[in-house]
Amino acid sequence: MKIVHHPDSATLVSYAAGNLDEGFATLVAAHIASCEKCQAALREIERVGGALLDTVDATPMSPTALERTLSRLDSETADEHRAPRTNGEKRPDLPAPLARLLKGGLDDIAWKTVAPGVSKHPLPVSRAARSRLTLLKIAPGTKVPDHGHGGMELTLVLKGSYCDAFGRFAPGDLADLDEHVEHQPIVDSPEPCVCVVATEAPTRFKNVFGRILQPIVGI
Ligand SMILES: [Zn+2]
Repeated sequence: MKIVHHPDSATLVSYAAGNLDEGFATLVAAHIASCEKCQAALREIERVGGALLDTVDATPMSPTALERTLSRLDSETADEHRAPRTNGEKRPDLPAPLARLLKGGLDDIAWKTVAPGVSKHPLPVSRAARSRLTLLKIAPGTKVPDHGHGGMELTLVLKGSYCDAFGRFAPGDLADLDEHVEHQPIVDSPEPCVCVVATEAPTRFKNVFGRILQPIVGI
């Protein structure tokens, strides 16, 4: 698996600090389980964070230390990092943080069709969670309506692939979008694209079809 798309540095820092809500933290953990680059980035963030804490009462670190580290992580090329996926033995199609949330594998899911070519299945989150986790299965060639976001949105591809203005997203790739982004993904794989989406607020579709679809799809 060649992973090209990773969480933003800010998202990784929030994850390391324990500041991501449950659904987002689960998706980032699932990506990191498959991604050596983010495993290394996380270690570096924790090292810098620990060093910052150690120096609170001693000589202050350069105030730009963290930024320099993060920009270095951003500038690393994806080709340097090809990681095997770490899966549960019984469910090779799911990273462990997601496998915990499903009784079976992806083939055992009772998908609910919510629109032509689009099925979904909610994943459990705790009552206190302010985010939602939803598995989506989207048929080849299906174009998801153009939409903006009510807040942060993370998407992790598990099977198949899709394209949008940010590139091609294949298994292991994570799309890290904020509320200012609008995009229109289209599934370009011969098999359905299965992905899991973490959202914090209802998605705002722009066109009529999308507005009709939104309460049905419910993400
Ligand atoms: Zn990564």
